[in-house]
Amino acid sequence: MLFQPEENALRMKMGAERMCMPSPSVEQFVDAVKQTVLANKRWVPPPGKGSLYVRPLLMGSGSVLNVGPAPEYTLLIYASPVGNSSPVGNYHKGRASLNLYVEDKLRRATPGGTGGIKSITNYAPVYQAQKQARAKGFSDVLYLDSVTGKNIEEISAANIFIAKDNVISTPALVHGTILPGVTRKSIMEIALDLGYQMEERLIPLEELLEADEAFCTGTAVTVNPIGAVTHDTKRVEYKTGEGTLSQKLYETLTGIQTGRLEDKKGWTLEVN
Ligand SMILES: *Cc1c(COP(=O)(O)O)cnc(C)c1O
Repeated sequence: MLFQPEENALRMKMGAERMCMPSPSVEQFVDAVKQTVLANKRWVPPPGKGSLYVRPLLMGSGSVLNVGPAPEYTLLIYASPVGNSSPVGNYHKGRASLNLYVEDKLRRATPGGTGGIKSITNYAPVYQAQKQARAKGFSDVLYLDSVTGKNIEEISAANIFIAKDNVISTPALVHGTILPGVTRKSIMEIALDLGYQMEERLIPLEELLEADEAFCTGTAVTVNPIGAVTHDTKRVEYKTGEGTLSQKLYETLTGIQTGRLEDKKGWTLEVN
């Protein structure tokens, strides 16, 4: 079963436009993903044991030296089985809660830049901050906005949410500095369905430091609780595990993805 393939196709289209790349149509994209999954059927882990992580990418090539769009493009789709406890190699390990470091100097994205599209330009710039944080024992980095340095934006490759009482908040996609995650969008809908108040807005760092819970979302990590955040010399801990709101959202999302819960939204697509 595929999860939200059309949403991912639309996002590739949007990103490709920003990078002046031609992109496959939604139909071509979904068909290519289906064919890849069918051809790799024997690598799909049994129910409850993991999933087949599918990563489509669009790549330019050709014999040119000038600075400009490439003359030819390839749609390449990787597929790899991932276990429940170790999604995608170096990704945040399974459901263990994250110990985040707030980066004060290096920035991830700038208004008008490409932080809001799923492009290679988002990854290499975060490795240095990530490497430094990991050397100090943190699991990943949380970035602040590059204009004021006061508001939280996202984690290296995952969106962030905070929860306080019955209100869940996530940074708004206003300046093109935050990646519009498909998981982010799905979690916002699930949160509303479960009766929480859901807000998309500017979130000052102080609010994160005073939240009851914090978690991040992404295709590979689904919903991953944040156990602690360190800013400068201040360390704050959050509720994680049984009975938390992030656990409830995780159960609901993965329930729909695996067919354990009825998909009333048409988010899943059967492949056979
Ligand atoms: C992929 C990605 C996300 C998560 O997006 P999903 O569609 O939920 O996988 C968030 N932030 C960045 C920078 C990403 O590259």
